[in-house]
Amino acid sequence: TTQLTNVQVRDIEALVHPYTPLHRVREIGPLVLDRGKGVYVYDTQGKEYIEGMSGLWCAGLGFSDEEMVEAGTEQLKRLPYYHLFGAKGYEVAIELAEKLKEIAPVPISKVLYSSSGSEANDTQIKLAWYYNNALGRPDKKKIISRVKGYHGVTVMSASLTGLPNNHIDFDLPVPRVLHADCPHHYRFGLEGETEEAFVARLAANLRALIEKEGPETIAAFIAEPIMGAGGVIVPPEGYFAAIQPIFEEHDILMIGDEVITGFGRTGEWFGSTAVGYKPHTISVAKQLTASYAPLSAVMLPQFMVDALESESAKIGVFGHGYTYGGHPLGCALGVKAIEIYQKRDILGRVRGLAPLFAARIAKLAEHPLIGDVRVKGLVGGVELVADKKTKRPFDPKQGVGAKIVGFLQARGAILRAIGDTIALCPPMVISEAELNELFDRLEKALDDGEAMVTK
Ligand code: PLP
Repeated sequence: TTQLTNVQVRDIEALVHPYTPLHRVREIGPLVLDRGKGVYVYDTQGKEYIEGMSGLWCAGLGFSDEEMVEAGTEQLKRLPYYHLFGAKGYEVAIELAEKLKEIAPVPISKVLYSSSGSEANDTQIKLAWYYNNALGRPDKKKIISRVKGYHGVTVMSASLTGLPNNHIDFDLPVPRVLHADCPHHYRFGLEGETEEAFVARLAANLRALIEKEGPETIAAFIAEPIMGAGGVIVPPEGYFAAIQPIFEEHDILMIGDEVITGFGRTGEWFGSTAVGYKPHTISVAKQLTASYAPLSAVMLPQFMVDALESESAKIGVFGHGYTYGGHPLGCALGVKAIEIYQKRDILGRVRGLAPLFAARIAKLAEHPLIGDVRVKGLVGGVELVADKKTKRPFDPKQGVGAKIVGFLQARGAILRAIGDTIALCPPMVISEAELNELFDRLEKALDDGEAMVTK
């Protein structure tokens, strides 16, 4: 182990890091960053890293883009804060909502802001409940999410999340949340089951779940078009087409959690388009501002706006909103980010880079440690296994994924291990050369890993 720097010691003594084995931070050695430029970040010692995860799947325009910096600075000088409560507002909030309506993949009438993905999803659930109350259906309140879905960490959004880490120590999920099957064919497909048969089985299970619970008790379904933090799970072809009619039949709202997939990540504005999902409402965050400031939003269809505006609601106001929901700095950066996505043809860039990205990921599948690879646009995941033939995973105690991203960090690149899946989500502005360099370093880190794992 190397000597900790002064700033690393201060980090350890002052910070609680989320999702981190805190008893081991000293041993891991915190990575304290100083600055970023383009797809690179630099630590306090000046060491350069390719940021292959866009931070947390969010800094899609890379770091310290000058136009973004300028747009933020201008807004801070003009109006650094105001809110939208009680029919007050500011033009940049309107402008961003108008842009969102323009690029939405389904008909959207109005936008309700918050600051984080978790808050947007919490808002979605309160909206679904409010909506059913306004319609005189007070018993239609349960929410279906999915095993391995990730929707955030507030009490409700963590309940929607379908990962044990988010539940076990917190006595979650709360009641009224149901978790349906995860569309991960490699892990959950039966021996010899085709993707088509797998999709049919999942749809039948979903129908059975709804019938068992009673469709009159189920308000909404929430899904990421591509599961991110659950391990980059790209659903099999036809999955959404198979399940969508079941919700339509039972008058169940469909919520699209586009917090990762929004704004070009799949080569489409929204991931829903890429996978054939047609949600009624959409949550966006992260790349909404390319993460230059916190901002999230719920995009609402007319029929839900009608319910919100209806005088039949019990108290006549939607009693929900956040101090920083729609913060002017976030809105200004959101407007600028979307303008940049358009004028620099970021969707075109993603589509152009996608074949190289897919080819380099496909090549990783040949590595002795890798059992499955998944990719769409510029997001991908590679799943490490102890035995390629039987798909047997490593003993989680070995922390193989974490070790490999540790080796990668030593080699000057940052990726994220989700258990034993290594996720890749580079800034959409990455060049071909930078992308190749990221994969070259990952291949070396996998070889480092191979030399020390126990199978
Ligand atoms: N939804 C999805 C799909 C996410 O990936 C995340 C965060 O990674 C969230 C919601 C929660 O967003 P936040 O961390 O901003 O609360």
